[in-house]
Amino acid sequence: MSTDILKLTNHIGGSPREPSTKSYFDSIDPATNQVIAHVPASSAEDIDKAVQSAKSALDGEWGRFTSAMRADLCDAIAQGLEKRCAELAELESLDTGKPLSLAQRIDIPRAISNFRFFAGAGRHQHTGCHEMSDALNYTRREPLGVVGLITPWNLPLYLLSWKTAPALVTGNAIIAKPSELTPITASVLAEIITEVGGPPGCFNLVHGTGPDVGSPLVDHPDVGGISFTGGTQTGALVAQSASKHFKKLSLELGGKNPTIVFPDCDFDKAVEGAVRAAFTNQGQVCLCGSRIFIHETIYDDFTKAMVEKTKALTAGDPRNLNTKTGALISQQHLEKVASYVAIAKEEGGHIRIGGSRSSLDSPFDQGAFFEPTLIDNLPPSSRVSTEEIFGPVATLHPFKTEAEVVALANDVRYGLAASVWTTDLRRAHRVSALLDTGMVWVNTWLKRDLRVPFGGAKDSGMGREGGWNSLNFFTQEKNVCISFE
Ligand code: NAD
Repeated sequence: MSTDILKLTNHIGGSPREPSTKSYFDSIDPATNQVIAHVPASSAEDIDKAVQSAKSALDGEWGRFTSAMRADLCDAIAQGLEKRCAELAELESLDTGKPLSLAQRIDIPRAISNFRFFAGAGRHQHTGCHEMSDALNYTRREPLGVVGLITPWNLPLYLLSWKTAPALVTGNAIIAKPSELTPITASVLAEIITEVGGPPGCFNLVHGTGPDVGSPLVDHPDVGGISFTGGTQTGALVAQSASKHFKKLSLELGGKNPTIVFPDCDFDKAVEGAVRAAFTNQGQVCLCGSRIFIHETIYDDFTKAMVEKTKALTAGDPRNLNTKTGALISQQHLEKVASYVAIAKEEGGHIRIGGSRSSLDSPFDQGAFFEPTLIDNLPPSSRVSTEEIFGPVATLHPFKTEAEVVALANDVRYGLAASVWTTDLRRAHRVSALLDTGMVWVNTWLKRDLRVPFGGAKDSGMGREGGWNSLNFFTQEKNVCISFE
């Protein structure tokens, strides 16, 4: 891989563009703390240029694309990504610190399948028709127009593609604002969209920080919808700002997801699943199971088995294909994670494994590596057990009864996902129905079908993505009633 520092640009009207401020900030490889890219520090002025470009696209060639042409474009983007998948996986690993093997196996293949999936969904989209004795109603689904896509750093290309594909296939013009911490693969996506024939302005990319770029994007009066994935606190700001203009809004926010292990589980499978749910991507997946409730009769054995499995997750060079644990996103985030371990100790927690920075040789001694950490002996209501840490820290709690564990699982502000481990089918249905979450996995975790609704309850968000939900979000219905009289 080249060690040259990349210079990123915005992408407006189908061409690379300097930021109007002419200034740039550094993007850091969190595994080595080295600068890897210079990123445009854009401003509201760049957002406005992008909005004008998106509006011109809708009035021009892009607005004339038929739905079949848009589906073909999504397929062509998938093919373009596929051609560059090795490079994209390396860039994603470099930008996020995640293991290259994970980016190769999950991030990039799923970004490709998102485009393929929504190409297919676009081809199969249908609308309603309601006949009356003297009239016919038919319902059109029209694009929202200019839409803003704001994404976080944990799954950069994967989450951006999850929004871009349905927005494009339904005929919107996009302004994408990726996380300032992980801007690189979004730039490659912009290049690919142009290369494969995306008309100028159908996909505009503006780099920069949340306050400088995200906020003016949400606030822009000509942006008709915002699809936001990120933290709950930021989501609240986005909701306030979008509500002033009555914008259509989708919010995919934080989580503090329970893993619930009943005594009748398939023990080995549940241990493997609970460890994977806690530590995939260094615990930096919104769906990670960071509160693990284990029935008291198997608590000691299960905890010991989890500790054993966790020992294998040693941190190392993310580019080594055998590495299971990479770096956290930044030194600042590592400090946040470490501060929660300190709080856990104050709250009376026992560190069963981990709890410190990982010690690695140069150049990774400068990296943001933190040991996968399991903590028990904490009250389920403690800060560490209820606040989103978004790192490799999970808490373990024994429980006695089904009713007790359902109440504990629901006793947080979040409601994104849960996983339930039991071989009792009746219990699986009963508990799934009682959990206040948008998604429940039974005897698995993060098994994804792109057709199913994805999203959270309570402070984990508003609205659902996935399948028709995404196509519906990026369109608005118009009913046409034609009289026969
Ligand atoms: P974040 O909220 O800090 O940032 C997300 C995006 O919002 C970034 O692009 C950021 O620049 C932008 N932003 C920041 N302030 C803004 C503002 N005032 N107006 C508009 N945009 C603004 O989140 P993060 O730290 O990048 O990501 C981690 C969070 O994302 C976690 O809470 C995690 O649970 C959540 N997440 C949720 C899902 C989901 O599907 N529910 C998926 C992944 C991550």
